[in-house]
Amino acid sequence: MSARTIDLELIRKFNVPGPRYTSYPPATHFTEEVDKAVLLEKIAHNNATAERDLSLYFHLPFCNSLCWFCGCTTVITTEQSKSEKYLDYLERELDAMGQHLHPDRSVVQMHLGGGTPTFLLADEIRRLGAMVHDRFVIAPDMEASVEIDPRRLTRDKLVALREVGFNRASIGVQDNNPTVQKAVHRIQPLELTREVVGWIRDTGFDSLNIDLIYGLPHQTVESFEQTIDEILELRPDRLAVFSYAHVPWIKPAQKILKEEHLPTPELKLQLLKLTVEKLTANGFVDIGMDHFARADDELAIAQREKTLQRNFQGYSTRGGTDIYSFGMSSISQADDIYWQNQKELPAYYADIDAGRLPIAKGYALTAEDLLRRETIMRLMCDLELDYAAMSKSLNIDFETHFAAELASLDDLEDGGLLQRHPGRLEVTELGQLFIRIVAMRFDAYLIAGKEGRYSKAI
Ligand code: SF4
Repeated sequence: MSARTIDLELIRKFNVPGPRYTSYPPATHFTEEVDKAVLLEKIAHNNATAERDLSLYFHLPFCNSLCWFCGCTTVITTEQSKSEKYLDYLERELDAMGQHLHPDRSVVQMHLGGGTPTFLLADEIRRLGAMVHDRFVIAPDMEASVEIDPRRLTRDKLVALREVGFNRASIGVQDNNPTVQKAVHRIQPLELTREVVGWIRDTGFDSLNIDLIYGLPHQTVESFEQTIDEILELRPDRLAVFSYAHVPWIKPAQKILKEEHLPTPELKLQLLKLTVEKLTANGFVDIGMDHFARADDELAIAQREKTLQRNFQGYSTRGGTDIYSFGMSSISQADDIYWQNQKELPAYYADIDAGRLPIAKGYALTAEDLLRRETIMRLMCDLELDYAAMSKSLNIDFETHFAAELASLDDLEDGGLLQRHPGRLEVTELGQLFIRIVAMRFDAYLIAGKEGRYSKAI
């Protein structure tokens, strides 16, 4: 582990839009045309044995107010009673999918995302925990994480989360500066964040992640440096520092953010430089794709040992699992299929009322997709490709199969993003910042020019 310095000129050159590859192909390829009977057959096949472990995801969409930068799938409401009804439907969805799951599969990972999972009342958190514990075999070392909004959080909700097995907390901060907070409609004084971190520690969570965003209105290098300094004092184990993606054509609320208040592309690069240099100088390892972890954190160790995985929740240390997700808009992944639930609450409820699984879209990977998915995931997690190892795991001659892709890397090698050695390809520290640019060279749909609009890497 070493402190990094960033060359802004090179960053400018490679800052082009691209997918984040939490799946391959990306979710933009999922289609309503997918044959649900085929999906169900494949789910049945996936549950023929209890060999593979389960990772469960629950999407809790409610938030009390909208943060104007938000890119998540949310339902904004102050009506607390909505969460009870939602849990009723989640329970029915769990029962409906439960009929297809092998009863002995072990749950090794669980994640509550949103929206704001802590919109749920403490007793509702207990109810959700009981719903899972009553239906699944839970591994004793299950890693259970929850996204927490410190605003309106009460200590008893953390106590309830711990009671039902949650051991990893992730809190949203984004930026501590009051002017920035006002501009994005998210007022969260540092004092409040400090108090919540204290509760997370004294209720016994094992790990703390903090989310920040750079590229928000009114941010300056000085103001963001102060935010990072204040956050480092809270001693998180992991940090996710995302680049704000301004996509008002997808998220209309982002139109409220005035363009003239957003950092210029130049300033955004400086904010990234500051982030990487400051965090790596303070003991964090740059995992890639905006994630940083302390050198002794499982994520950093898994990357060193080449056992890191990438999925819809970002990076994960638990390989060999299938992700079964519940709640509106949630995405599942098993073997060679992806499927996504209805994205709107009324459609999600209507499907469950009609006795159907609330699946809106899906995708069945081709044999070629599977080869490319593994290649892109290994590249993003290991930051290298060992051709002999890839040939063995994919049962192909890797260098022959991907000859055109490997030959297309000259400009990335000249730019310092990667190095090709006999038998292997290695991503450099600079390339790590633009790992999606390297991955894009192995994306058959991009090569064929069939892709839509993505946000830039930075
Ligand atoms: S609390 Fe989180 S999910 Fe909800 S609007 Fe704000 S950023 Fe989005």
